[in-house]
Amino acid sequence: MRKLSICKSALKRHEKAYAEGVSLGLESLANGHGVPFATGNVNAPDEFTAASVAKYTRKILELMQRFNIPSLVSMRPRKMIKFVSAFHFWYESEGFDDATRKEIKKVLSALFNYESFRDGKKYKVVDGKIVLEQSNWRLQNYLARLNVRYCCYCNDGHVYGRTYNGEDPAIRSPFDHYFPNRIFPMLGLTLVNLVPACHDCNSGRKGDMYFDTALYAYLYLDDFHNECSINVDLKKMVSNSSYIKVASVTFPLLSIVATSLLIARG
Ligand SMILES: [Zn+2]
Repeated sequence: MRKLSICKSALKRHEKAYAEGVSLGLESLANGHGVPFATGNVNAPDEFTAASVAKYTRKILELMQRFNIPSLVSMRPRKMIKFVSAFHFWYESEGFDDATRKEIKKVLSALFNYESFRDGKKYKVVDGKIVLEQSNWRLQNYLARLNVRYCCYCNDGHVYGRTYNGEDPAIRSPFDHYFPNRIFPMLGLTLVNLVPACHDCNSGRKGDMYFDTALYAYLYLDDFHNECSINVDLKKMVSNSSYIKVASVTFPLLSIVATSLLIARG
C-alpha cells in the first residue's frame, strides 16, 4: 500500500470551492440558526435539538482555534488527527441521545455536503447565503490527482470514476470517510479524510467504524510500500478476519501458511 500524496494545488482548489461557505454555515449554526442555503434547501435544526447542534458546532470552532486550523476542508493529516482525537473524547463524554446524534448529523451533513463534491458542485456565498453551483472540481479529479487505481484497504478491488463530456458520471469513484460521518459529519468534505476504497471495503467491511490511527493504517501518513513491519497473530486473524488493518495480508498470508503447513506435514 503506497502512501497517498496530496498536492498543494488540489488543497487550494478544494479550499476555494468550499471553505467560505462552510465557515459561514458553521458560524450560523453556532449561533443557533440553520445552514443559510439560498436554494430553499434550508436545513435548520429541529427546535428540540437546536441547542445541541449549536453546542456541537461551537466545540468544532473552539478546537479549530486551539489547533490553529483555518479550514476544515483543506486541513493537513496531522492537524486532522489532533482535532479528531480531542473531538472524539468530548463527543463520547457528552452523552447525546440517539435522536440528537441523528439530528446533529443531518444538519452538519447538509453543510459538509459530500454529495456536492461527488457531483461536481461548489459553494458560492451570495448576500450571506450559500449557493451551490456547477464546478469542474469534483471527486473524480481528486482521484486522478491521487493516481490510485486499487483500494487502499485491500489493495485488490478497483477504484475508478468516469465522466463523459462533463456530464454526470456514469461510474462514480468510491471513497471511504476514514473518520466516519456518523461521529464526524464535519469531516465529510475534508480531502485527507477521503480514502479511495472499493465498495466491499467501504460499505461491507469498514462501514462507519471509528479507526484509531495508532492501530489502523492511515495512508496519508503511513507508507507500507517502502517500509513495512507486520506482527501476525494467526489465531486472532482467523477469528477476526474482517479486520481491514490486516486485510491486505490476511488472505494471501493464510493461503501461503496453509500451503506451507500441508507441505511441512507431508
Ligand atoms: Zn477493498
